[in-house]
Amino acid sequence: MDKATSDALTPIKLRQKAAKFAKATVNAQMNSFKRIGIWADWDNPYLTLSPEYEAAQLEVFGQMVMRGYIYRGRKPVHWSPSSRTALAEAELEYSENHVSKSIYAAFKITSPSNSGLLDEFLPNVCLAIWTTTPWTIPANAVVAVNPELSYAVVELQSLLESESTSGGKQRKLGSILSSGNEKPFIIVASDLVSVLESKWGVKLVIRKSFPGSVLEYCRYLHPVNGNECSVVIGGDYITTESGTGLVHTAPGHGQEDYLTGLKYGLPIVSPVDDEGNFTAEAGQFSGLSVLGAGNAAVVKYLDEHVSLILEEPYKHKYPYDWRSKEPTIFRATEQWFASVDGFRDAALDAIKRVTWVPSQGENRIVNMISGRSDWCISRQRTWGVPIPVFYHVDTQEPLITEKTIEHIKGIVSEKGSDAWWYMPTEELLPEKYRDKASEYRKGTDTMDVWFDSGSSWAAVSAKRDGLNFPADVYLEGSDQHRGWFQSSLLTSIATTGKAPYSSVITHGFVLDEEGFKMSKSVGNVVDPEKVIVGGKNSKVCCYRNLCYFLVLRSEICLNLVQEEPPYGADVLRLWVSSVDYTGDVLIGSQILRQMSDMYRKLRGTMRFLLANLHDWKPENSVPYSDLPKIDQYALFQLENVVASMKDGYDNYQFYKIYQTLQRFAIVGLSNFYFDVAKDRLYVGGRVSYTRKSCQTVLAAHLLYLVRAIAPIMPHLAEDIWQNLPFQHTLEDGSVAKFAFDLKWPDKNEEWRSVQKDDVDFLGVILELRSEVNKILESARTGKLIGASLDAKVYLHAENPDTVSKLKELASATNDADALHRLFITSQVEILPSLSEETKLGVSYAGKFSDPRTGEIWIGATRADGVKCERCWVYTKDVGSFLDHPTLCSRCHGVIDLQPQASPATAAAAVA
Ligand SMILES: [Zn+2]
Repeated sequence: MDKATSDALTPIKLRQKAAKFAKATVNAQMNSFKRIGIWADWDNPYLTLSPEYEAAQLEVFGQMVMRGYIYRGRKPVHWSPSSRTALAEAELEYSENHVSKSIYAAFKITSPSNSGLLDEFLPNVCLAIWTTTPWTIPANAVVAVNPELSYAVVELQSLLESESTSGGKQRKLGSILSSGNEKPFIIVASDLVSVLESKWGVKLVIRKSFPGSVLEYCRYLHPVNGNECSVVIGGDYITTESGTGLVHTAPGHGQEDYLTGLKYGLPIVSPVDDEGNFTAEAGQFSGLSVLGAGNAAVVKYLDEHVSLILEEPYKHKYPYDWRSKEPTIFRATEQWFASVDGFRDAALDAIKRVTWVPSQGENRIVNMISGRSDWCISRQRTWGVPIPVFYHVDTQEPLITEKTIEHIKGIVSEKGSDAWWYMPTEELLPEKYRDKASEYRKGTDTMDVWFDSGSSWAAVSAKRDGLNFPADVYLEGSDQHRGWFQSSLLTSIATTGKAPYSSVITHGFVLDEEGFKMSKSVGNVVDPEKVIVGGKNSKVCCYRNLCYFLVLRSEICLNLVQEEPPYGADVLRLWVSSVDYTGDVLIGSQILRQMSDMYRKLRGTMRFLLANLHDWKPENSVPYSDLPKIDQYALFQLENVVASMKDGYDNYQFYKIYQTLQRFAIVGLSNFYFDVAKDRLYVGGRVSYTRKSCQTVLAAHLLYLVRAIAPIMPHLAEDIWQNLPFQHTLEDGSVAKFAFDLKWPDKNEEWRSVQKDDVDFLGVILELRSEVNKILESARTGKLIGASLDAKVYLHAENPDTVSKLKELASATNDADALHRLFITSQVEILPSLSEETKLGVSYAGKFSDPRTGEIWIGATRADGVKCERCWVYTKDVGSFLDHPTLCSRCHGVIDLQPQASPATAAAAVA
């Protein structure tokens, strides 16, 4: 909608259009949130435009009025000429590339202060000021100096040859520096003399120095209106970092200027209207835009009246309107304010009791609250919650009382805030004032949107059943220390004395893969929707711009992948969990591809669990005390892993959960437990004790992991749950139909009870196993063996404790703990001694060393005996069964028990 169209709308029509747009946007966002898998009470969202919300907001406002925190005043505020409204700090965007017309100007001194200090330079001595907003010169009230700084009277001498010619093209000398005019003496800060000398391209000779304090009450001629004005003492904000050390002060156009104005009782002049044009008060500039022609006209006027020293473009950070993207100005207007001074200390105190994640957030908000000025809460907009105030038609005196607010709140809670616009004043006024309705008009200002959102604690967490006040957590980007976190804190402190939240989590912003800001024009925006459902289907080389082929001819690349494949919501969610959100985070196609890999591997882990539990029933569980050591050890690890993931959730450190998942569920389990379990699962016999014990452990992994991943990957968790091959009963006896019917598992003290000694030793065995694997790998490379089952491993240790522990494992009869099962070899022999002969007979050997075990010698040869056709393990008993001459005794026993299992499929499973 363009400006002309919106201007033509009646307030009610505009509000209806805005409400329709807002609701459509809410819907669109809700749908995309649902698709991402965000869990919320979607049927009962809170909308700031709903009547009950608006009424709660008016309640907050009313309480602040009653406590004396709301006042009307004339103050400079950020003003957007393009939107014709006041703006809050949070509604500004700072442009780094704004170029202002900056000027050095000279204001002629009429009478120096009593000291007689400047007498010798009269009548031609000036104060030099610098400003980036020449249009504020007509509103100049005083010039401020820093009493602590040293100032100097300088004489302008000949133009410095090199300087006058080397200046930038846009740098323009003013009439003071142009030849012909008699050069005045100029007062500037002493420290800046040499800087200004080169800037102005003129020799500056110091004739006298003195502290700034002596300049107070020195009088000068206003360069535009000819009035006499004073030099005053400003604050520490006056430095010698830029400018001249003397500050042009217009109390109607700047915050510090305003404070200086208050101190000296100066009028708050602001001859600028809503659209940013000079008013009649600005005399000859009337009607001109202060950001355009008006600015130029002021500079020209100064130049013509021999007040301009120099004009040059100046690039700096400058506030823009977040909606219109147009520059803003500082302008004094009549506005409603919340007096932050009234509750600043209480707010700062409450901040200390809130948990800030990350902790730097606390400093940010403390600095913002302690340094902020009063909160301008009125806006000159039609769309919003009205400031419920009436003005006396003659005196303009505002009418706002407990009764009037209460009455309006009642109307709004039933009819919504549109009523303020369509109901006549007499109905909006309570009974008591009704006969005087003709003496009042209703106000047209609405409240700052941050007052809307900042009232959510009152409209939602404090009102709704099942919610808490203060809320457990507020979560938003780190920009909201200035916005929502702050406005919520202020309204809540002002009315309840408490912060509205117990903890606040902030996140950084999403950047592209190279760390650059995303922008449509650059084309590096990652659209979550596309990540989920897929985008362009074109194939690209997976090495992207690093690929030699892509540069030449993409069709000859051998490694093409789909450019924007549909990853589903869980891959996106997994990425969210993987990053440290406390800073800015990176995303792009490479990163997503890695996430998708990780997701697929995790899915593989879960599939392995599901597949191997296909015939599992909870009543088959082997009691904990009967489990083989290796199974107890696996549960011990699972318990620890799940506890550390819970820590990650409790502390909102999701990347730690991601890392644990990667280490444990993807790498750790597959490398060891699953690897070793295959023999028991596929070969050991369907009803064997070791298969059952293994399944007991696998079922525990499945039930724990599904819960641990559910908050991050709810779709995967539910997919797993719907394919659960057995029923899981909850504590109350009901069957868990959905993954989210489960609670987080309680601490399992039994699983934690493994002896530290055993844990340590099994840990060592795992390290030893890696060493053994390396030796088997070289035996494989050397063609001694094919599969690891073709091998026999010899171990020899000197440490007697190690020897006895190894022997115990080597001779374990439960078929799960036995060393050769852990190493997946056919045999392991513990050698009592290590002769040179033995060493010579073993062509593949190595050493493992650990302080806990001492040195262990490892050797590998081909396994003894004959390979069993079913389990591929070499034993000496293959051939001893007449009915199955190719089987070992274990397999013979299994076949006897379950003749239905054909050796071919069993063997295939092992492979
Ligand atoms: Zn066998």
